[in-house]
Formats: sequence, C-alpha cells, structure tokens
Amino acid sequence: MSTENPHIQSLKRAGYRLTQARLTVLQVLEEERGHITSADVLAKVERVNPAIGRASVFRALELFTQLGIIRPTYISSSVTPTYVLMHGGHHHHVVCTECKRFFEFDDCDLEALTANLQASLDVQIKGHLLEFYGLCADCHVADGRGPA
Ligand SMILES: [Zn+2]
Ligand SMILES: [Zn+2]
Ligand SMILES: [Zn+2]
Repeated sequence: MSTENPHIQSLKRAGYRLTQARLTVLQVLEEERGHITSADVLAKVERVNPAIGRASVFRALELFTQLGIIRPTYISSSVTPTYVLMHGGHHHHVVCTECKRFFEFDDCDLEALTANLQASLDVQIKGHLLEFYGLCADCHVADGRGPA
C-alpha cells in the first residue's frame, strides 16, 4: 500500500502512527471495497497477520470511524454495523430492502446541497453517506406489486 494512499494521509495528518494493526485493517478494508462486518475484518486480518490481536483491530475500526475513513452502516434490524470505506469522503448506494443486496455507485451531485447545509446550519461537512432503498429487479418481480 502506497503512502500516497489518502486514508494513510488522513492518519498521518491526524498525528497517528502507522502501526501494523492499522495498516493491515486498512488493507483489508480496501481489498473489500464494499461493506464488511467487524467479524469479517477480524477473520481477514488474522489471515494476513495472526499476531494482530482482536482489541487492536477494534481500536483501529473505532479510530477510522472517528477520522471519517470508514462509516458504520446498519442493515434493517441488525445491531452490528457493516463498515464502508469513504472514498474521498463519499459513499453512496442503493440497498434492496428485500434481499439486502447493495448497489454501489460513484457519482453524486451534492456540492450545492453541501454548500447550502454548511451555510444554513453553520456546520463544516466532512463527507456524506447516501443511502437509497427500494427493491432490486429480482425482488421487484417476485413482489409483483410494481412501484408505488
Ligand atoms: Zn457523494
Ligand atoms: Zn455501500
Ligand atoms: Zn432484492
């Protein structure tokens, strides 16, 4: 993983050392590219480097969340989040409420909205996680009711 990596840059900018645990957790998140549970992160980190303890993995996930490198997402009633890497401070998807499949997409058009929110609420926005939900083509057919 290159030190030019923007997530590594955020760690360094915030004054955190690039420990083996942090780098390995980041590597696992980057390889996944989508949503990953902490249990999956643990399993994959263990495969890469069994010397990294559970506690370090959880601390790294907590730190990354705090720094906005990842965000937790929750699917319906699940209490354990899945994490997503925030590329350039964005993450967008459509989730099917039936089969829970995620459709990730890159483009958004939220610059004007972001600027408006910053001005009207007097907040500094660091990123966004945008979720649309509905029924995918498969579930839509199975449902038979068509769009509302
Ligand atoms: Zn976006
Ligand atoms: Zn997503
Ligand atoms: Zn579906």
